[in-house]
Amino acid sequence: MSKCCNACFNDNVIVRHIENRGTKTESACVFCESTNTHRIETSNLSNLFEPFMQLFQAEETGDKISKLIDVKWSVFAEKVSNRKNELLLDIANGFRSEPARNIVNEPSRFRSDLVLDQSSELWRQFSGSIESINRFFYPEELDLGSRLVPSLQLIEKEIKKESIYFRARICTSEERAFPANKMGAPPNHKSTAGRANPAGIAYLYLADKINTAVHEVRPSTLDLVSIAKFKTVSDLRVIDLRKISPFQFSKAEDFEKQVSEIPLLNSIGEHLAKPIHSSTANVKYAPTQYLSELLKFNGWDGVLYKSALNQEGYNLALFNPESAECIKVLELHSVSKVNVIYTP
Ligand SMILES: [Zn+2]
Repeated sequence: MSKCCNACFNDNVIVRHIENRGTKTESACVFCESTNTHRIETSNLSNLFEPFMQLFQAEETGDKISKLIDVKWSVFAEKVSNRKNELLLDIANGFRSEPARNIVNEPSRFRSDLVLDQSSELWRQFSGSIESINRFFYPEELDLGSRLVPSLQLIEKEIKKESIYFRARICTSEERAFPANKMGAPPNHKSTAGRANPAGIAYLYLADKINTAVHEVRPSTLDLVSIAKFKTVSDLRVIDLRKISPFQFSKAEDFEKQVSEIPLLNSIGEHLAKPIHSSTANVKYAPTQYLSELLKFNGWDGVLYKSALNQEGYNLALFNPESAECIKVLELHSVSKVNVIYTP
């Protein structure tokens, strides 16, 4: 049985799985030739890959499954591209079911009855409906609540107590930073509609880095920005919509159904990360406000999403502003340059 490494894969769940369980090894990896990476027996990945085999049917004119899953979900790293079939065949040696072991060797295609790509259309219809037809009641086919919860449970993430985040505010007055008690969420009666919160219900928006926090307040050149450091006051359960991996669904009893919800979850994550002008915020934020309310109602503490304004960064919206506290106000930052990109 051979070993593969974290650098063989592109998928974040597989990479983390290997980093957590593998052994750091200096010599070159058999598959991707990387040195100093974490190694793991390929059979250790069999449980994660086996459920995918049910999505395929053998067909003479088909393709290798290693290629098909890579095209769809970008599973393997570039470095392993010539040997990804060999790697998948090795992983398949540990499959428990015989049909799964057999099909991995066959030219195949995705089963014709699968509906893997349609759920993103549902979010588009739902968003259109909540923005301009009905805000609070939906036709049954657009009522996403009960449909989404089982998939959301699979992309939950725990944020440990005392995790650090940042928040920024543009200083409106003299050259003095806001005090700590002015750096949190506004009181309910002053809160305007945001990406996750409806007007009148305040949430606390935090960013992963100072850079993201500054981008999020959309400053102009020469603005002074007050920045505060926050820490979470307890362990929190949040939904992570930054990057969804199909391997998060490998353990689901209804794997096929859950994996078919990935486009829907991706659409929601992209909607949360879309820049929206303040003039249309009341309407355009309605779908993501619905999502946040659904999460809050089902007991989650917040949602993680990619920053709309800083590609590298991400944000955390906490439904209870008391879930994190301001521990330090940093010195004022002055915005020296703003990068403007425009189209005709
Ligand atoms: Zn490798």
